[in-house]
This record gives sequence, C-alpha cells and structure tokens, in this order.
Amino acid sequence: MTEGAVHRVRVRVRGTVQGVGFRPFVHRRARELGLAGWVANDGHGVLLEAEGLAAALAALVRDVRIGPALAVVEAVEVEAVEPAGTCGFTIATTRHGAGTDVRVSADVAPCAACLVELADPADRRFGYPFLNCTDCGPRYTIVRAVPYDRASTTMCEFAMCPRCRAEYDDPSDRRFHAQPNACPMCGPALTWSGGAQSAAGADALAAAIACLRGGGVVAVKGVGGYHLACDAGNEHPVTTLRRRKRRDDKPFAVMVADLSAAQQLCELGAAALAALASSRRPIVLAPRRTDAPVAAGVAPRVAELGVMLPSSPLHVLLLGAVGRPLVMTSGNSSSEPMAYDDAEARDRLGPLVDGILSHDRQIHVRTDDSVLQARSEGRPRLVRRARGWVPQPLQLPLPAARPVLAVGAQLKSTVALARGGSVVVSQHLGDLDDWATYQAFTAAVEHLTRLSGVTPAVVAHDLHPDYRSTAWARASGLALHAVQHHHAHVAACLVEHGVTSQVLGLAFDGVGLGSDGTLWGGEFLLADLAASERVGQLAPVALPGGDAAVREPWRVALAWLHRALGPDVAAAHGPRLDGRWAAVLSIVAAGRAPETSSAGRLFDAVAALIGVRTRVTYEGQAAIELEALARRADLRWAPSYSFSVDGARLDPAPMLGQLLADRDRGVPVERLAAGFHRGLADSSAQLAVRLASECGVDTVALSGGVFQNALLSDALATALRRAGLRVLVHEQLPPNDGAISVGQAAVAAARLGAVEAGEGVLD
Ligand code: ZN
Ligand code: ZN
Ligand code: FE
Repeated sequence: MTEGAVHRVRVRVRGTVQGVGFRPFVHRRARELGLAGWVANDGHGVLLEAEGLAAALAALVRDVRIGPALAVVEAVEVEAVEPAGTCGFTIATTRHGAGTDVRVSADVAPCAACLVELADPADRRFGYPFLNCTDCGPRYTIVRAVPYDRASTTMCEFAMCPRCRAEYDDPSDRRFHAQPNACPMCGPALTWSGGAQSAAGADALAAAIACLRGGGVVAVKGVGGYHLACDAGNEHPVTTLRRRKRRDDKPFAVMVADLSAAQQLCELGAAALAALASSRRPIVLAPRRTDAPVAAGVAPRVAELGVMLPSSPLHVLLLGAVGRPLVMTSGNSSSEPMAYDDAEARDRLGPLVDGILSHDRQIHVRTDDSVLQARSEGRPRLVRRARGWVPQPLQLPLPAARPVLAVGAQLKSTVALARGGSVVVSQHLGDLDDWATYQAFTAAVEHLTRLSGVTPAVVAHDLHPDYRSTAWARASGLALHAVQHHHAHVAACLVEHGVTSQVLGLAFDGVGLGSDGTLWGGEFLLADLAASERVGQLAPVALPGGDAAVREPWRVALAWLHRALGPDVAAAHGPRLDGRWAAVLSIVAAGRAPETSSAGRLFDAVAALIGVRTRVTYEGQAAIELEALARRADLRWAPSYSFSVDGARLDPAPMLGQLLADRDRGVPVERLAAGFHRGLADSSAQLAVRLASECGVDTVALSGGVFQNALLSDALATALRRAGLRVLVHEQLPPNDGAISVGQAAVAAARLGAVEAGEGVLD
C-alpha cells in the first residue's frame, strides 16, 4: 500500500467474537484511527470493512487480531477491496447469510463496573439482579440461535426502555450492543412463591433472604438452572435438604460472598483463588479447613469442600444480604438433572423447598456449574466442564475432513461436534440412565448443531451396545464410527496437548467395553489419535452382579480375595463383608461373572477390605473416601504395597496380602490407604516405564476417572517424570467420561483424514 493514499480492506474475524463486545471494540478503534467503514456480525463471526490510510488500517488489523478481553480470535483474514469513498464508521445490522460458523461466548460473571452500579444507591440499576454489559452477563444459556443478537436470545421478550435503548445504541457506552441489556423499568423481574405467599421484585428477594436466614430451603434460579439453597452453617436445614433431595452422602457445594469468606472454609493457594475469582465462576474443590464454619452434613467424610463465588448479580445480592455461606446444590431430586425450566422447577422442586426465588428471563439450555479440583501444585484441574467453559472450542491436532458428531459414553455424558480443526464439547449432561438426562442429551445434540450450523456427516460412538448414546448413534442414520472407550480417553488427553505422535496411554477408570469384548478399566495402551493397541493391563477379576457390584464394593472385594488369596481366605472374610457373601462367592468360584481389569473397582475392593465402606451411594464414593484417608498419612513414610508385574500384567495379589496382614496387625487405616496408593503408583510407574521403553515412546498420557484422585495421579506423574518421561494430564477437560466425546471426535477425525489421504485405515 502506498503512503498517503486511501485504501479499503475487508476483514473476516473467526472465533468467539459475538456477544463479547467485538463490534464496539472495532468501532471505537476505527474511530480513534480516523477510519471509515462498518462492522457487522454474521453467520461466520465478525465481518468489517475499513477505509483510510495504510498505517491506520494496519493498526486496526493488529488490534482485531487480539480483540476485546472476552474474545477468542481463531482466525483473521484480510483482503484489499476498492475504496468506496464513504465517511464515518458504523455498526451495520447483523447480516443473515448462508451458513453459520460462529462461536457463542460462555456465560460471564458480573464485571467490576456492573458490581459498582449494583451497590450504588444513586444508580438506576441499584440492587437490580439482571444488570449486565458487553463484558459480562448470560450468553450460552440464553442463546437460541445464531447470529448472536437480542432477537435470538431469551431476552427477545423484553423491549428495551428508551434509556436502555440509548445505551445500546451509543458506541461510547459500555452497554453498546450488550444483547441482554436491561434495567428495572424494562427488564426481567424477580418473583417469590413460598407456601401461600407470593411477592415480586425487591419484596421477592427480601422474602427469600428471610426464609434462608430462618433456616428454610429455597430454590434459586441461577444462570444455567435452579439451585437448592440453605444456610450452610446450620445443621438443621442441611439435614432437611438431604432428606428431601434424597441425597445421602454426596457433598454439597457452598457459595460464599467473597474470597476472604472462601478462605475461612478451605485452604486455598494462589491458583485456586484465581480460579474462584475468574469470570467463569466454577465450584473449586479444595482441602477443607478443620475450623470451617459449615455444618457436618454439607460434605460428610471427605477432605475437600466445594466452594464458589456468586455467578450472577442475583447471587451477589443474596449472599450479601444473608451474610453467611449458603449451600448451593443442583436443583434436583436424587439423580435427575438440574431443573432449569420454570414450570418444571415448580413441579419438581416445589415439594422440596420452602419457597422458590425465580424470575422471567428464560434459561434456554440447562448448564450445570463447572467443577475444578485445586491441586497442591499447579493450576486446578477440571472435574466437570459446563457453565463458563461451554461452548469454548478446543483445537483438534488433526482436522476433521467431514463434520463429526461424537456422542460420548453413558455416565458423565457430553457430546461434541468437530468441524475442520476445532471441536466444541457440550456442557456436562449427566448419566444417560436417567430419562430426563437422555432428553437433555438429545437437546444438546440439536443445540450444538444449531449453534454451529454444522450438519454432521459421521457419528462417533462407544463400542458399548447398551449405552443410550450408542443406541442414538445407530438410529441416527449417520455414518457410524465406533471408538473404543479407553482409546477415546487417551485421545482426549492428546487433543489437549496437541500431540499427534504415539504415546503410552494409561487409562484407569470404572469400566468400559474393550476391543476384545471384556470389561476394561486399568489399561496400558500404545496409542496415537488414529489407533491404539493394548500393551498392558491390570489383572482382571470377576465382577459379580454387574451394576450391583458397582453399588456394593464388598462384592469386588470378595472376588479379589478369591482370586488373590484363594477360596478359603475369601470364605473366612466373607461374613465381615456382607450377609450375602456365600451366594456371591459361589458365583465367583463358578466363573459365572464377567471379568474386569478396572482400576476403579480395585479401589472399591480395597475400601471394602479395610472397612472404609462396603456400599456406595454415589459413583466413586469409596475411592474418594479412601483418598481422603490416605491424605491423613504422610505418603512418603507410608508403606508401599507392591503389585507383582507378570509380563505386561499388573497383579494386585501381593499388595492385597500385605494389606490384610498389616490390617490384622492393627496398622491404622490411614496408613493402609496410603500404602495402597503408593503401591499402585509405584507399580504402575514401573510397568509404564518398561512398556514405554519397549515401545520406543517417551510420553505417557494419563486419563480416566481414577485420575481425579490427585494423590495417585501426582505420585504416578512424579515417578514417571523422574524416569525421564513426558507426562500428559487433562487440564481443559475432565479426566473422567466427560472427555470421551472429544476423544471420539479426535479419533474419528484422524481416521477420516487418513482415509481421505488414501491410507484406508478405517476399521
Ligand atoms: Zn458488566
Ligand atoms: Zn431499561
Ligand atoms: Fe471411562
């Protein structure tokens, strides 16, 4: 471009660029730079044309590549066009064209500027629970379709008043084109219904506060669904809530007003504090302080407590007024998904609560709170990926030649949609055994495809024929692509790290169907994105009673005793485990139970044998409590109950023998738990190091729900690194089955790419 001459460029911006204040950002910069032209949202992101001097155009493009704070710019394409001689820079109306390819932003907690207004009696939004701006507010949970503008959100029902409209139209205002913009005059309003009493607006809030302070249980409509709230410091409402919700032991999360209140509950390092305060506002699981002012019933027998800060202005008001930590648990009964629809909430939650604090801004998509686990070192890791993260895409190391829909597993279901080099994974949906969750699953498939405008050509699914996701895939009419469960686990970890080479993958989880038709779950896989081969495993054991064996860890304990120490030892222990031991032992002895190499089930067995628990009320409970116990002992001085390594098989028999001998000698249960963790970490590391060397790989990927156990995964990772191996762990995705859909998409993409290139490895 020549200096002094007028040029015009057309710029295409792709990525998460709608609903994040991108157009105002461009508008402001273009005006500052003296450029003419326009900027608009369309079905592919943001499109703009700018005209002026070359240096100013270059400066604008440079800024566009970075974008405003909440934007994630994936690509910027610049093309020179004929100057049109226009004056001024405008925001053009949204262009509805063919195809959609935009990224809707995730939901964002209230920003500092909005919080100042919320607390300012002189401001017209003082105490208004629905204020927001271009930097904050609901996004994913209120969007029905793209392009992202007010008409395609659940805010379309509210006509802006003249003052809100003026802000929305004023390029210098921080609410310029803030789609959910609202005020008390024109926007959503609170409602309260408690027994025969009902109230609206500020009175509704006051009624809810009084109810909570008086020890009541209240359903509160949040960003992605309803929560059940009560005073976390008061045993009585907590017990009432557990009883009404029919939830025995699973810990409740607690919402606190600010970071200093969070520090009174948990030991929080700098990384955990930053995660708590981030605009994503997740639940952070962190070691609970012994003097934490919460009722015992909030999180029984676990060492961690889940805390979060307010994720909406309504929560800010509520916490501020109640003045103490509140239990804030998903609004549901037992295993159902969280209620998000108002009529549904009245029906399902009404009987569980003393009142409902609701409002008339609809939630379009149910989105649970995300959960992060704080670590003693490094950044917290995701355990559940939902509000605040979804629908932020991940990059695929090998792009998908055709759009791939991946439908995940059965428990901790998510679905993912891959197109080209990126993959969007849905929010955590839950357990597909539950019918309402299955409906959420089909809705998520529809929502993801609608938001992206992508029509999938291929559906990637688990090998397990009984998963509802697999059945859905088979009935979908799309080209089927089966991916083995543990290969998907390892592939998901590779996606996060952009790795395409071969690695040794350790997939430790509950159970998943193996490529040989048996139940896997303690696997050593030589894998890349396209292929995987099992090169090692945990020794298999009978799983007597299938699903019953998952609910009743004593069954696997008996099976392990039988296998490792023989029928006599098993029979001698039987009565200590359960009254039905003899019947179960005969099933095991007769070889009438399927076998599994599951590491998760081994945790169950150990927990039952050392008296932690013989039955569970939520998935993973035995392992979580075993870890909590082990943490009370210092792992460095604990015994290490070694496994034997028989070829490529890790056999727990010697570990079990030592464990029981120590138990009978009266060794404290904390040390027994620690000894098991150390033994598993040491022995797995030993086998992994040998297998990596034999296979000629220098990288190990850890995936599977068992690696939510930080004690095990940290000890194992440390041992592997000491041996000179590179260790990959999950950070952007949970290690559990929430990651499966991404792994399936990545495997299908890698294989489709290979087919496209003529290699023909599709199996
Ligand atoms: Zn704001
Ligand atoms: Zn208004
Ligand atoms: Fe799994």
